Order: sequence, then C-alpha cells, then structure tokens
Amino acid sequence: MTHSAETRPVLIVGAGISGLACAHALAAAGVHARVVERGRVVGGRMASRRVEERPVDLGAAFFTADLASPFGAVVRGWLDRGLARPWTDTFSVSDPGHPLMTKPGPLRYAAPGGLRSLVVDLAEGVDVELQHPVDEIDFAPHSATVLAMPDPQARRLLPAGSVIASRLAEGSGWAPTITVALGWTERGWPADFHGAFVNGSPVLSFVADDGDRRGDGAPVLVAHSSAELAREHLEDPDAAIPPITEAVRALLSLGTAPSWSYAHRWTFARPQAQHPEPFLLEDGVGLTADGGPEHGGGGGAGDGGGAGDVSGLIGVCGDAWGTSSSVGTAWTSGDALGRALAAQL
Ligand SMILES: Cc1cc2nc3c(=O)[nH]c(=O)nc-3n(C[C@H](O)[C@H](O)[C@H](O)COP(=O)(O)OP(=O)(O)OC[C@H]3O[C@@H](n4cnc5c(N)ncnc54)[C@H](O)[C@@H]3O)c2cc1C
Repeated sequence: MTHSAETRPVLIVGAGISGLACAHALAAAGVHARVVERGRVVGGRMASRRVEERPVDLGAAFFTADLASPFGAVVRGWLDRGLARPWTDTFSVSDPGHPLMTKPGPLRYAAPGGLRSLVVDLAEGVDVELQHPVDEIDFAPHSATVLAMPDPQARRLLPAGSVIASRLAEGSGWAPTITVALGWTERGWPADFHGAFVNGSPVLSFVADDGDRRGDGAPVLVAHSSAELAREHLEDPDAAIPPITEAVRALLSLGTAPSWSYAHRWTFARPQAQHPEPFLLEDGVGLTADGGPEHGGGGGAGDGGGAGDVSGLIGVCGDAWGTSSSVGTAWTSGDALGRALAAQL
C-alpha cells in the first residue's frame, strides 16, 4: 500500500517518557504516531517492578520539575490525580571520611504506584505496540521515524551516512548502573532518612528509601551502584548484591541483614555527556538503509525489511538531549521533537 506524506503515520521506536511525549505532541497537532516498544511494558528507565507484592522503582529514583514549565503542566495533572506525590527536598550526602550530612535541594517528586505508572498514564490513548523489538527500520510506510532511546541503541538502527548517527555516542559514552532493591522485616534506619547521594564510593552512588518515597512506609531500600562496580558485574548482576548490601548496611549502620534482595542491570543508565540541542532531525531522503549486521540484524519480531532507500524524516530524542540527563529533560526533548515534526509534515 502506498501512503501520501499526509496520511503515513510517524513511527516512534521506544515507549519511554521521551517517545510518549513525542507521540502526545504529534497527536495534539493531529498527526498519528505509532509507538513500538521491545519490552513487555512501557516506561523504559522509569521502571517499577513488583517485588514482594509491591512495586519498587528500579530505574529513575525521583524527578524534579518547574511547575510553571510545559513539563510542569503534565506534573500538575499527575499531582491532581494522585499519580505523583511530592517526596522530599532533603537528601543526605555521604563524602569519604565524613559523617552523613543532610542537604536541602529542589523538591523531588515520586509516584505511589511507581514512576512507571506515570508513563503508563502518558500511554493512555496512544497507539503502542509492546514486545516489538526493532532490528531494522522499515522507513517506507512512515512519514517520519523517531528513535527515542539511549544513543548506543539508536546508533545501530540508523542508516549508513546518517548525520545523526555521526553525532551519537557509542556504548562507552554511557555509564552503566546495577540497581539492588533490599527488603527488611522492619525499618531500621533513621525516620528522617529519605535518600543519600554517595560520593567517592567504588560501590554505591545513591540509596533511596522506597517506602518513604512511595508513601507506604515499606522497609525497602533501593541502591544504585557506581558505574565502576556495574562494569565489573554486567554479565552477572546478582554478583553485585553482596558488596552493595554491605555498603548500604555500613552507610546506615544497619545491624540486621536484609531478608530479600533483587538486582537489575542498566547497561546504558546515563549519558556521560549531554548534547546541547533538544533533539536532532534530518531528512532521510538519499540515505540507504543497510540491512547488514552493523546496523542491526539479529532477527526477532522486528520491523524487518530495512534495506533499501530511506524515505521521510528521521529524529532522535531522549534524556541525552538537553541540559542534564533526567526525566524532565527526556519529556522536554520528546515534546520538542514532536512539535518540530508536526510543523514539517
Ligand atoms: C538507575 C537509574 C537512575 C536514574 N535516576 C534518575 C533520577 O533520580 N531522576 C531523573 O530525573 N532521572 C533519573 N534517571 C534517568 C531517567 O530514567 C531517564 O532520563 C529517562 O527515563 C529516559 O527516558 P527516555 O524515554 O529518553 O529513554 P528510555 O526510558 O530508556 O526509553 C527508551 C525505550 O526504548 C526501548 N527500545 C530501545 N531500543 C529499542 C528497539 N530496538 N526496539 C524497540 N524498542 C526499543 C527501550 O526498551 C525503552 O523502553 C535514572 C536512570 C537510571 C537507569
């Protein structure tokens, strides 16, 4: 079937917050977007998983927002409907050789149902197809293709000669993290502890009180490893549980061992450097999609048939596009790309 540029949908690969923000901006302008996601659920790095009968945040720990900004308007909607809640403006900071200090900062928001529930909310009414890994992009049926994911994942999908591909970081430009959720039978840490940034540790980078941020008081802590420790244990994340548990217990002087633990690996947790632009957009016409192994391959339920001439616009967005890697930056990037695309289609 041949589509005219006006009727062909936009393909968005990735149902994290940036891909869904892009879909919303397009829908607001009357442009249909089809979102495909390789995972079984939406959310990407805003990941909450049920562990021991309750959701635990395993990716982003919180988000901040200027409530007067466009992202802030979305956050106000979540707050009004009880999907998000103000968590705390005070975290602890651990510096080597110093006792844990508290430090006020911006108000951090969390979600009673886990941060993924906010992306689920954004996915309402959006055409999202789950368990659809894209190995090669089929450009022809789409007026534009958006890659809403970390640079190293987008890079392998882009056609030979793409200007965008030449701007994207390789895998080594993104830091990994292993997240470990730890549960106790009762809370054994100070009532005024919310979370801690851990500086200069070879093991830990951040620890959050999951019961405190969720609002149910569950005796659960979630620790994010240092990139250094994650690199050592990427092949076997469970092997990171003992050193992380030991470091958390030492940080909070916890005499009792946790009764359960769960580890999750993030190969591309955070970009090491930000792109100054809010997104990139290029005209794919003239580029050739190469179905060779360096651009994907690998089979699976992907879009397939990517070899051949590229048609339409190609865009990238996500948390690497803007001032700092964060939930708000990812939403802002996706929204800006969606509006720019709608203006050009
Ligand atoms: C451990 C950790 C802690 C963090 N802490 C914070 C924090 O406290 N505060 C904060 O603001 N931010 C935090 N972040 C960052 C925040 O989670 C991200 O900035 C944000 O979620 C990125 O959204 P995104 O849509 O750009 O990308 P992602 O959420 O990564 O979404 C990309 C999606 O694309 C999908 N995908 C990739 N390749 C393909 C393919 N080939 N085919 C189909 N689908 C594909 C993925 O499955 C994924 O769902 C943290 C991240 C991590 C990992």
